[in-house]
Amino acid sequence: MESVRKTFGGSVVLRDVGLEVPPHTVTALIGASGSGKSTLLRCAGLLEEVDDGTIHLDGEEITDPRADQDAVRRRIGVVFQAYNLFPHMTVLDNITLAPRRVHRVPRARAEEQARELLERLGLGGRAGDYPDRLSGGQQQRVAIARALAVRPRLLLLDEITAALDPELVGEVLDVVRGLKDDGMTMVLATHEMGFAREVADQVCFLDGGVVLERGAAEQVFGDPRQERTRRFLRRIV
Ligand code: ADP
Ligand code: MG
Repeated sequence: MESVRKTFGGSVVLRDVGLEVPPHTVTALIGASGSGKSTLLRCAGLLEEVDDGTIHLDGEEITDPRADQDAVRRRIGVVFQAYNLFPHMTVLDNITLAPRRVHRVPRARAEEQARELLERLGLGGRAGDYPDRLSGGQQQRVAIARALAVRPRLLLLDEITAALDPELVGEVLDVVRGLKDDGMTMVLATHEMGFAREVADQVCFLDGGVVLERGAAEQVFGDPRQERTRRFLRRIV
């Protein structure tokens, strides 16, 4: 992401944001509510149009008006705080919908892959359940499985534990740890500072739409350069 600017109705929400995410690394976005974390993720996932600046994915400029935006979106998985599963579909159907409809994967193959994913995320045996039969943590893991089903190059996670009861947070964070071990490239917005410190290679502190500080997790948490970062971490940790 280079010099990205995003406004909503005249107010600047992202200002000259630059961010480089090396493949197979985890980047954590931290910062107060309203600092622009979700907007940054939405811009990266092409769910919002940037006003200025460029975003590249695998060397291709995805903000180029001539880029095939649907094709790009298929390479990026996004998971939100609210899991947004389709309530009238089983877990299996939720996961296989995009591979079958968008990627034209045959049903049997899509279901086989979905079952493998469910197994991997500790949800083997849940394929036939409807979402309302599952706990929040299980639903969020299904949402992650759904995002992974199209084999994305990049996974964007927006406060995926924020809506969960505290006792269910761990199982979702475990999934993220597993994905990191598998080498998945991820950018996640989080208020879980202990987790960010543990799992992130790189940490970005956003303040009023600006990346105020960016560095290795140990540096940003252990020895922040900016007074505002220090203050934020003192308040929250
Ligand atoms: P964070 O995720 O860090 O809490 P957001 O990216 O959600 O921050 O919001 C950053 C700022 O942008 C906030 O001031 C918010 O009110 C504003 N904002 C976000 N989305 C919209 C929108 N669709 N329309 C208008 N303002 C928005
Ligand atoms: Mg947000």
